[in-house]
Amino acid sequence: MLTQGAGGNTSVKCDGELWVKASGAWMRDAEERSIFVPVRLDVLVEAVARADEPALDALMRASVTSDGLRPSIEAAMHAVMPQRAVVHAHAINSTICAVLADGEARFRGAVDEIGVSGCVIPYIKPGLSLALEIARLNAESGAADILLLQNHGVVVAAESMREAYDLLCAMERTLDFPVRMQFEQSSMNADDGPVAPGFERDGAHAAIARDVELCAALAAAPLTPDQVVFLGGAPCVVRPDETLEAAARRAFAESGVAPALFYLPGKGAFRRANLTAGEAAQCEALVEIARRLPRDCAVVGLETDAARALGAWEAEQFRRAADAARA
Ligand SMILES: [Zn+2]
Repeated sequence: MLTQGAGGNTSVKCDGELWVKASGAWMRDAEERSIFVPVRLDVLVEAVARADEPALDALMRASVTSDGLRPSIEAAMHAVMPQRAVVHAHAINSTICAVLADGEARFRGAVDEIGVSGCVIPYIKPGLSLALEIARLNAESGAADILLLQNHGVVVAAESMREAYDLLCAMERTLDFPVRMQFEQSSMNADDGPVAPGFERDGAHAAIARDVELCAALAAAPLTPDQVVFLGGAPCVVRPDETLEAAARRAFAESGVAPALFYLPGKGAFRRANLTAGEAAQCEALVEIARRLPRDCAVVGLETDAARALGAWEAEQFRRAADAARA
């Protein structure tokens, strides 16, 4: 519920360095292997202040460790937060808040209840653009304790990692979207057709696809960058006269990306067979979001151009390659 696959990242500023999670590394591996990379904080802050993308890229390359760990895409965002400990997560309740039309009001209510300062950041491409926007807002109104990143997730910051973690948990507890739909993994309809080679049934997503309202909301647009990066965008809606293979070919021709999920509205859902661990984690995260979406509120997805920009970005291609290579 707090982190899925390689998504999210944490950092601590210590002795002039930003120790930040490596791109593509999984937070859950932190106690088994090295997943953090030190980056020179003064050089990083300077590159961001000048909005100097080449200098930032050079610093990221220079920071790659001997075992190939590369600093997170979000290192710049961590650097512009003045607090010592920063946690960025795609935590489920916060992410739901970040995709609802009335999410900003819900977020402000939660922040008031917890008694901390909060700021809502409209969707902006992760990386330097997001860092610059946060730096601008910090200069304008002071650094907030919690940032809601629209169509993305949440950032919490404090002077210790313990406080930051507690704050993240408080935010999740306070937002607390109840589960509205229990999924039976074995409840696929019999009339959803045979499984084509290269695909498998997905019971949880089938329940979403059979709910007309939810199906429409999820198929309209991807909700977050990680859904674009790992699932190839919104679930592909299979037309009544179309086979799964034909739908996959059509989706690829339209967007250049092979989607991971296929919905047959009112009937069922399939996923590409042999998903990587990262792709499967994102499939599950989407279920956790969908089953909690409130009925009385519109869902706002990513705009087409924003989603396209992510697919072509080298930093995101690196995350996909790291996922494919993960043992
Ligand atoms: Zn993120």
